[in-house]
Amino acid sequence: MMMTESTSTDFIRDIIAEDLTTNRYGGRVHTRFPPEPNGYLHIGHAKSICLNFGIAQDFGGLYNLRFDDTNPIKEEVEYVESIQEDIRWLGFDWEDRLYYASDYFESLYQFAVQLIKAGKAYVCDLSAKEIRHYRGTLTEPGAESPYRDRSTEENLDLFEHMRAGEFEDGSRVLRARIDMASPNLALRDPVMYRILRATHHRTGDRWCIYPMYDFAHGQSDSIEGITHSICTLEFENNRPLYDWYLDALDIYHPHQIEFARLNLSYTIMSKRKLLELVASGHVGGWDDPRMPTLSGLRRRGYTPEAIRNFCDLIGVAKSNSVVDIGMLEYCIRQDLNKRAPRVMAVLRPLRVIIDNYPQDQVEEMEALNNPEDPAMGTRKIPFSRALYIEREDFDEDPPKKFFRLAPGREVRLKHGYLVTCVRVVKDESTNEVIELHCTYDPGTRGGAAPDGRRVRGTLHWVSAAHSLPAQVRLYDHLFTKVDPFDTGDGSDYKANLNPNSLETLTSCRVEPSLSGAVPGSRYQFLRKGYFCVDPESRDGALLFNRTVPLRDSWAKIQKAQAKRS
Ligand code: ATP
Ligand code: MG
Repeated sequence: MMMTESTSTDFIRDIIAEDLTTNRYGGRVHTRFPPEPNGYLHIGHAKSICLNFGIAQDFGGLYNLRFDDTNPIKEEVEYVESIQEDIRWLGFDWEDRLYYASDYFESLYQFAVQLIKAGKAYVCDLSAKEIRHYRGTLTEPGAESPYRDRSTEENLDLFEHMRAGEFEDGSRVLRARIDMASPNLALRDPVMYRILRATHHRTGDRWCIYPMYDFAHGQSDSIEGITHSICTLEFENNRPLYDWYLDALDIYHPHQIEFARLNLSYTIMSKRKLLELVASGHVGGWDDPRMPTLSGLRRRGYTPEAIRNFCDLIGVAKSNSVVDIGMLEYCIRQDLNKRAPRVMAVLRPLRVIIDNYPQDQVEEMEALNNPEDPAMGTRKIPFSRALYIEREDFDEDPPKKFFRLAPGREVRLKHGYLVTCVRVVKDESTNEVIELHCTYDPGTRGGAAPDGRRVRGTLHWVSAAHSLPAQVRLYDHLFTKVDPFDTGDGSDYKANLNPNSLETLTSCRVEPSLSGAVPGSRYQFLRKGYFCVDPESRDGALLFNRTVPLRDSWAKIQKAQAKRS
């Protein structure tokens, strides 16, 4: 499959094209991404951002970033800042169009007063529990609140006093007066305002009543002149309510379109649960490289381009499904294959002495930085008498099809020489192999076999004296199950956390060209995968996170499917 810039169309773009044809919004396209600042952005949000902002770009329109900050209890400045950083990193610029629902608190209050005056909203003294009880069920209509027929004057007076802070938290709410018998539960006199003494990250203690999300969201879109309010499927049920508010207020009406949210295998996407993983220490933080957050993916080594390509590739649909996480990994491999310099790093070192190599000789071997892109140039790798190879690249008693090093066998050291294993040194007490002795063929410099002799294995290596110590973190899925919520026994999703999702290797050796490797830079370690320099990496204490191994099962599956069809 080819990764290309978005030329795709989808049902949402089709709807927008249709609105342009009928001139429904005077030729305007204006979208927004409306996060609640109650957590860090994740890959699902990236889908929504790429969709909303990508559509505006495609149609030459505008896009806003708006924080839906109506719940002061869960919202924090840290999240407001991280969200902006992540969206910029993803490659989008909202210019001066940064808004907050909290900027509209006064307008929303006035909207509520307008509805009270129209007899379409009332102050209700039922408790939260009673309201739930009165609400009815999917099969039974609800019951009307005894406070439903309060006079307009009384409602206005009570609502004003709610705002003035004269009532206890939770003692009263403002509700829309719609229809307690509606088959749509969202229309059974939903709560518009609640009393809540909580300090808001922007409005401080100015308010002690806060609008419910449902009362704020549609009106915020309306105030901003959003043409297409794109949201996820679970808001389909609420659309009639948003319509009701906009109609009752007689204000500008955006076109709401729902799409299926992204679900990824082996991954959870709920911010509440991601916060739980952070707070309980199951991960190192929101930017733990195992997290599906954009900050986690960034630290893991993902590029914005790979994430945007992924969002493009998965497309948008009207029904929920689960995307194979292998597809995300495929996208980052595609991208890093083109741009990541190749280097040699030995993760689990085994010492090798080249017996016939001169004691003090060091040769600088020339190596291409990226065979995919010769413009990336070459570098020098020192070759010397004492080397390290990967422990798993030697087997004293190799099984069939093991083409790496074994006693008496010749292999190629990439960019080096052909070497043959002549002796194995073991720890006498544990029987563990601790050193190999080899001989090299001086006529094979660069790894060529001039006489055309067959050498099947090619190994990566580093020079013992010249290589640098490093730590490497290897990752596996954060959950052991495709569906982390599938616990079988009713226990929590945390029961499916993968105890082996992080493995830290502390005695790795990397080639000297990695000296001074800048945090955030990405490399392919030959045969080992793509790695990214961790923000905490320092010279003398290099630290790498593995983004993905090289093996690409998803691409293979695609290839096999293409062949079959
Ligand atoms: P959560 O339920 O985890 O809190 P949320 O949807 O409430 O997530 P918001 O901050 O409200 O989080 O999300 C902002 C926007 O991102 C919304 O428009 C929402 O539809 C969209 N979004 C959230 N999760 C996904 C997802 N998995 N796939 C696509 N879009 C998503
Ligand atoms: Mg939400």
